[in-house]
Amino acid sequence: MAARRILSRSLATSLRTPTVQAARAPIALRMSTPLSKSATQTAVRRLTATAQHFQPAAAATVPVDYPMTHDKIENPPNTKWFVNNEFVESKTSQWIDLHDPATNNLVTRVPQSTDAELKAAVDAAAAAFPAWRATSLLARQQIMFKFVALIRQHWDRLAASITLEQGKTFGDAKGDVLRGLQVAETACGITTQLTGEVLEVSKDMETRSYREPLGVVAAICPFNFPAMIPLWCLPVATVTGNTIILKPSERDPGACMILAELAKEAGFPAGVVNIVHGSAKTVDFIIDEPRIKAISFVGSDKAGQYIYTRGSEKGKRVQANLGAKNHAAIMPDANKNHSINAIVGAAFGAAGQRCMALSTLVMVGETKEWLPEIAKRAAQLNVNGGFEEGADLGPVISPQAREKIEKLIQSGVDEGATLLLDGRGYKPAKYPNGNFVGPTILSNVTTEMECYKEEIFGPVLVCLNVDTLEDAIELINRNKYGNGVAVFTQSGATAGRFQKDIEAGQVGINVPIPVPLATSFSFTGNKASIAGNANYFYGRHGLQFYTQLKTVTSHWRAEDAVATRAKTEMPTHD
Ligand code: NAD
Repeated sequence: MAARRILSRSLATSLRTPTVQAARAPIALRMSTPLSKSATQTAVRRLTATAQHFQPAAAATVPVDYPMTHDKIENPPNTKWFVNNEFVESKTSQWIDLHDPATNNLVTRVPQSTDAELKAAVDAAAAAFPAWRATSLLARQQIMFKFVALIRQHWDRLAASITLEQGKTFGDAKGDVLRGLQVAETACGITTQLTGEVLEVSKDMETRSYREPLGVVAAICPFNFPAMIPLWCLPVATVTGNTIILKPSERDPGACMILAELAKEAGFPAGVVNIVHGSAKTVDFIIDEPRIKAISFVGSDKAGQYIYTRGSEKGKRVQANLGAKNHAAIMPDANKNHSINAIVGAAFGAAGQRCMALSTLVMVGETKEWLPEIAKRAAQLNVNGGFEEGADLGPVISPQAREKIEKLIQSGVDEGATLLLDGRGYKPAKYPNGNFVGPTILSNVTTEMECYKEEIFGPVLVCLNVDTLEDAIELINRNKYGNGVAVFTQSGATAGRFQKDIEAGQVGINVPIPVPLATSFSFTGNKASIAGNANYFYGRHGLQFYTQLKTVTSHWRAEDAVATRAKTEMPTHD
């Protein structure tokens, strides 16, 4: 009881309150490598125990008092916005209630930022830009080093916020943070990444190229990766000299608020990183504000197409990653055990709410006989609150999302698919009010069915049958999306053919979720999964997105040191 009281009371001063001496986190928070499942569970217990001994007077120094349970929060604090390195209570009259997806208890209220607040955020970012762009690359790199170290220190805290607001399991939330952290770590190498080119183009004349920041840029983020997607943007945008306005999803902004706190602690000057909130109204402001030069967007088709089209019309640079329907082709020669485990993990992990979830299985030839085994392993998954020990998947984000998922399952049944495993109506004993859907498998699906055409974005695997590899490739290429795809085979020739002919941004060969590492690559996408031209996130392309190219051609004639007579003809590059 005492522990619970401390957790609730401390919440009021924790997640959304700037913690000024965050770097002094206790040993329990200092974890530098991803945790194994059992280690994660130990950490959960240890952190909860730490919280029991927590002295509220020390709130400003040790941010250990974050919730690691789905217990109801008494008097939940409002989410603030962040400007000029300050957390500010919004003056809005429009609030968006944010509920824990496992319980539907209120966690916080998120403001729809007012016009004055939105303008103030851009004022701050615009005012900070000249000094920030003039800050040496080495100084910006030092701040990024500190930012990375702080994210590592606060890894569990960030993950806990994600589990509470988004619903995914604590272990999976740690992966969410890690994938963003890797982008920040890679941004630390900026001193060798931003080098220009130089060529002597004529006698005593040379051209140099520079990559310069754009100015104020903005990022509009989805709900499904509350830490990773803000971190796809913030490190690359700022290390290259831009100032940024982040708009996290109004459904789970907590991780982004912690990142703001860490950015301040790392030494980003006031105004370089700013956070505003809200939904369509905030997005329209970002599109219309002329001082914002570029928009990064990740989310659904509808919002993405709108933002890409209107943002481009306004002359902004826009990168926009949209929806997906990722297929896996499974060949009869595949390693059965590996393939089944990979497919079940990638279809149902994060409750299917990943843009790279393997939601569609194309079973080639006799592999359709493997369906009972796939269903058996899917049924063994533990669906529970994300903080619970052993949980494999948590709830989906909202009651509306659950309803949409269940409707699409029913549409499959109505259109003639076989409901091999039905997760509708599943309620873990401890969480009767959560937005849970258990793993669901529809087989004998055809490409005309609604459940095939729509992105379900839930723990639902739709399975189609084909006879040959060629049929699988043709079916997959006919789908409008092209985010990720995988093939399971033990034949190099089959893999080679698949890899060449398939139209998708990210191809896995015996790899179910082939997200390219930020250390060396960019996150791509193909067809309807990406809007417009190839403005990819992070990696070399990310650097290009956040910078503009400038060339300077200079002529320092050797003879000028002595010449006394002007030359009037055009240069002939002699
Ligand atoms: P969403 O489009 O509902 O929201 C994304 C952002 O857009 C949010 O910040 C939201 O406030 C804003 N927004 C929502 N509706 C808007 C509107 N009508 N006008 C203007 N702005 C609007 O997406 P989501 O549900 O948060 O995220 C899930 C979607 O994101 C899925 O479709 C998933 O495939 C996609 N996604 C894609 C990638 C990728 O890299 N391709 C990665 C992650 C998620």
